[in-house]
Amino acid sequence: MWCARPLHVKPVRLICLLLGLLLACHCQTISAATDFLTLGDGFTADTVPPQVRVRMMGRSMPLQLVAADSGRAAFASLRYLRVRHIDFEGQEQTGELVCHRDIAEDLLFIFKALYEARYPIASIRLIDDFEASDEASMSANNTSCFNYRPIAGRTVLSRHALGMAVDINPLQNPYVRGEVIRPAAGQPYADRTQLFAHKIDRDDLCYKLFRSRGFSWGGAWRSAKDYQHFEK
Ligand SMILES: [Zn+2]
Repeated sequence: MWCARPLHVKPVRLICLLLGLLLACHCQTISAATDFLTLGDGFTADTVPPQVRVRMMGRSMPLQLVAADSGRAAFASLRYLRVRHIDFEGQEQTGELVCHRDIAEDLLFIFKALYEARYPIASIRLIDDFEASDEASMSANNTSCFNYRPIAGRTVLSRHALGMAVDINPLQNPYVRGEVIRPAAGQPYADRTQLFAHKIDRDDLCYKLFRSRGFSWGGAWRSAKDYQHFEK
């Protein structure tokens, strides 16, 4: 009997192993075959649809990048997200973002958690609605991600140019470097020792969620502070 038992178990284990391998291969085939992601009703990510590409071209997506191969390479790494959020008036809204595919799942997770906590986000619209003007989008307190642009005041490309950075409630969480404050309308919120609503600091849920998914925070930078900014 000591010999028979292992002989009886082994085929079962072998079948389980084969089924596991088959399932793993099948799942890989599914994820390779589809770019669609969802975390439930109102939280989806997919390739950038044609009508959104048109909105982006010549705005957040420079035409010279699109010209190379009809935009296939330029858009291949990007994902279009739709997320629900609660605005500053307590109203439920649907927002849209374009980000790099590597952080699409992170952003769905974070924005869903913020929505469930009723964390207020003033506006989540594509920066193309502001003609890709960072200053205009920030002044409108708009949360956004992809924008092919240099770091403010420099020639080096920002992580936003890859869709790997997100700015949250930028009016109350401005970029501050010495006397430079962006957006300019964020001046009343540059002094972070003050208490006010929608301030991102280390006790803030938004900060904690982004950090839990491996993002760094612009508010921790040394030479400049970018309190709205999270990047990977
Ligand atoms: Zn930013």
